[in-house]
Amino acid sequence: MRYVSTRGQAPILDFQGATLAGLASDGGLYVPEAWPRFSPAEIAAMAGLPYVEVAVRVCRPFTGDCLDEAALRAIFTTAYGRFAHAAVVPLKQLDHRHFLAEIFHGPTLAFKDIALQALGLVFERFLGASGQHVTVIGATSGDTGSAAIDALAGRAGVEVYMLHPHGRVSAVQRRQMTTVLDGNIHNIAIEGNFDDAQALVKAMFNDAAFAGRFPLAAVNSINWARLMFQIVYYFTTALSLGAPHRAVAYAVPTGNFGDVFAGYVAAQMGLPIERLVVATNENDILHRALSAGDYSQGVVRPTDAPSMDIQVSSNFERLLFDLAGRDGAGLAARMAEFEATKQLRLPDDQRAAAARLFTSARVDSAEMADTMRWALAQTGELLDPHTAIGLAAARRQTETAAARRDPGTAPMITLATAHPAKFPAAVAAATGITPALPARLADLMSRPERYDVAPAQLQAIEAYIAQRARPR
Ligand SMILES: *Cc1c(COP(=O)(O)O)cnc(C)c1O
Repeated sequence: MRYVSTRGQAPILDFQGATLAGLASDGGLYVPEAWPRFSPAEIAAMAGLPYVEVAVRVCRPFTGDCLDEAALRAIFTTAYGRFAHAAVVPLKQLDHRHFLAEIFHGPTLAFKDIALQALGLVFERFLGASGQHVTVIGATSGDTGSAAIDALAGRAGVEVYMLHPHGRVSAVQRRQMTTVLDGNIHNIAIEGNFDDAQALVKAMFNDAAFAGRFPLAAVNSINWARLMFQIVYYFTTALSLGAPHRAVAYAVPTGNFGDVFAGYVAAQMGLPIERLVVATNENDILHRALSAGDYSQGVVRPTDAPSMDIQVSSNFERLLFDLAGRDGAGLAARMAEFEATKQLRLPDDQRAAAARLFTSARVDSAEMADTMRWALAQTGELLDPHTAIGLAAARRQTETAAARRDPGTAPMITLATAHPAKFPAAVAAATGITPALPARLADLMSRPERYDVAPAQLQAIEAYIAQRARPR
């Protein structure tokens, strides 16, 4: 499998090259040259297999000569062996139509573990074989950082510089990052919001002098391999509910458009997905884009679902690339205009094409809290704020369909993206119940922390990293 940049200028790479590069050198994102496709019989043959085996089959077409079946199996066995649930991603029924796919049973209690536990092992394998080292730089609204740090702490050949918005991640999220004291882990709290942190990371990649001195690597969802690992749970959950013989629908709490893009890829690969509901909080750039063609950057408003407090959704570029017929040069021009004006219009034909698979909903904090109370009262489930936003959007979608006398048959699966104990204050405010951390994290709030605070300025961050990182 070969990987091309959405902006058409960067070198074409294999899976290893795309994984280690992260962001493409032309500012674009790597995508497979073509989507592999399974026949219904091939999908049916995955039914009933353990998660690791489905993961091997789903990921194998993407890895070419870089990771064979045995290598993938070894990586997934180790990565998902650390999960707290034997199913890895258990499916829970809420009512006749609605299900939750709990993708949060990894070490740091959010779904980012599914990709990053595997990615950490892939990095180590690729670097160990070539004797290289990498400087991972990342921006996090909370969950990516903790998952990346857990996955990469102490790994040979990898240094991590993780930027989080100072004071805008929950105490549990911050401590999951800052209490990891391994020498290869560096936490930097940026005086700004998540978009500022993400812009700094992109700027470092695009600074040729800086990128020339350090072998930069990315673990944000701009890294293709992360999205690839996330395709797997769309397959396992759809198979559990009858795919390929029955279609399913998903509601996905969305920020950077990574998780839901993995669902889009699953659909391209032949999984019968009737609908993907993109759920946003008040930071609704994706809802505006999909419902009205208005992809324009607003001002980030902090909410109780901080991992979705995003007004530039990096991975949306991957969808735009497909919607515009994979014209890299054309997309490069549009993205340059977006970067200059912070506005991009989705032409009507592209919006209509997207609407065949995607709908969207903006869920405010009152509806989020109502949904948490509904789930607790009706099903006994305590939801985290992100999951509640997904479920609110899911229920709105099925109610709209019912009102249109379009009963639909597809079960609606909401991706439960975080454990409620990761966001105890918001859960307690809505439900009156403070969720307890699982035993393996019970002493988190008393562990010592280490991090530095820095201004959201490129020079300051580059200087910080240059003082510490190992050059090429
Ligand atoms: C990262 C995250 C999201 C958003 O996922 P994207 O891939 O950025 O769209 C939603 N919920 C939680 C809990 C997250 O950590």
